[in-house]
Amino acid sequence: MSESELLARHRAVLPDWLALYYDEPIEIVRARGRRVTDSAGVTYLDFFAGILTNAIGYDIAEISDAIRSQVDSGVLHTSTLYLIRKQVELAEQIAQLSGIPDAKVFLTNSGTEANETALMLATQYRRSHQVLAMRNSYHGRAFATIGITGNRGWSASALSPVKVSYVHGGYRYRDAFRGLSDADYVRACADDLRDVLQTTTSGDVAALIAEPIQGVGGFNVPPDGLFAAFKEVLDSYGILLISDEVQTGWGRTGEHFWGIQAHGVTPDAMTFAKGLGNGLAIGGLVARGELMDAISANSISTFGGNPVSTAGAKATLDYLLSHDLQGNAAKQGTRLLTGLRDLAEGNDIVGDVRGKGLMIGVEFVEPDGAPSPEAARLLLEETRARGLLVGKGGLHNNVIRLAPPMTLTDEETGEGLDILRESVAAVREGRK
Ligand code: PLP
Repeated sequence: MSESELLARHRAVLPDWLALYYDEPIEIVRARGRRVTDSAGVTYLDFFAGILTNAIGYDIAEISDAIRSQVDSGVLHTSTLYLIRKQVELAEQIAQLSGIPDAKVFLTNSGTEANETALMLATQYRRSHQVLAMRNSYHGRAFATIGITGNRGWSASALSPVKVSYVHGGYRYRDAFRGLSDADYVRACADDLRDVLQTTTSGDVAALIAEPIQGVGGFNVPPDGLFAAFKEVLDSYGILLISDEVQTGWGRTGEHFWGIQAHGVTPDAMTFAKGLGNGLAIGGLVARGELMDAISANSISTFGGNPVSTAGAKATLDYLLSHDLQGNAAKQGTRLLTGLRDLAEGNDIVGDVRGKGLMIGVEFVEPDGAPSPEAARLLLEETRARGLLVGKGGLHNNVIRLAPPMTLTDEETGEGLDILRESVAAVREGRK
């Protein structure tokens, strides 16, 4: 069956709102290292790691062996009502890595569930259903998380069980405080937070939930120290800080293991998912014990923390740490960022290149600086035609997002950069 026949069947039976990449979407049937092959036999270098899900890359023996050995035991899953050794070991490791005092961990199947749980705990703990989120944010697709999404393109429902107020600091390139120095920007955002608290809430807010670098919103990097300034304001009200590390965790930003650490603050809770399972469905949250135990009624996740996903996740985490993939993300990320900034120099279709480690956004613009979703769409097609997969996003859908597996080699970084250079040139040429 051809990819186009599969697409027709997909469209007939799956919802219209399930986003698909490319004018002619591809089916990936094989993957090795940092490369994936589609059903037509074409191989691509993957610079989006699935969606930051394949933190390490594909077909890594240590991960496959750990999963296989669990599968061979016959116990894919029975129930989380029984003890699961890998769940305990993984939770211990994440609690220790979190730096959160007296930390406890709850494992879920996705980032959405992790954030829903964090919001439920925070609102319960603080006895308030008021929440702060960042403008242009994305935290998932269930009831509370979709309700607090600050990006209209992804905010599928306007109904929400929580009352949300939005603060600045997410999308610096185009927000109201653009153009300010780092220090002035941080000051303006902290003043805005104070103002939002005083003018749109009753003050007894449960939590601020924020991505340290916005993912879906276009890999927007705030100045270091922004969340330290926020934390000072939040602390004066007793408001909790939840760091959504679904995209920024596991050392991907190069500098730190968790994105929030760039700001020198310890949050009350961190949520995570994506890269932890290196492709397996696993997420969770790590929080201060007092917050984690804010509910007393029985609760369970039938599949969260199951033996197969925790075996894969534990092997992934061990691999990440023992191979210093955070260090490699810093090294390859710097090369990519430098190469892309050179490319953007004097190039009128690239408005901004930003990022940290292996999380880099390239924002495409019209000659007058307006967002150019069309240039980003064309770039996606041009890179695909040259054998490179990249991501897309941003409030205006005009940002190309680069987030390769953290095992990326020097040669692959060079290869990706060459393809990006050629593809940008082709899109620019087409515009003339
Ligand atoms: N939080 C962030 C920052 C995300 O980027 C995402 C997904 O893209 C989520 C939460 C939701 O995670 P999931 O799709 O695993 O439910």
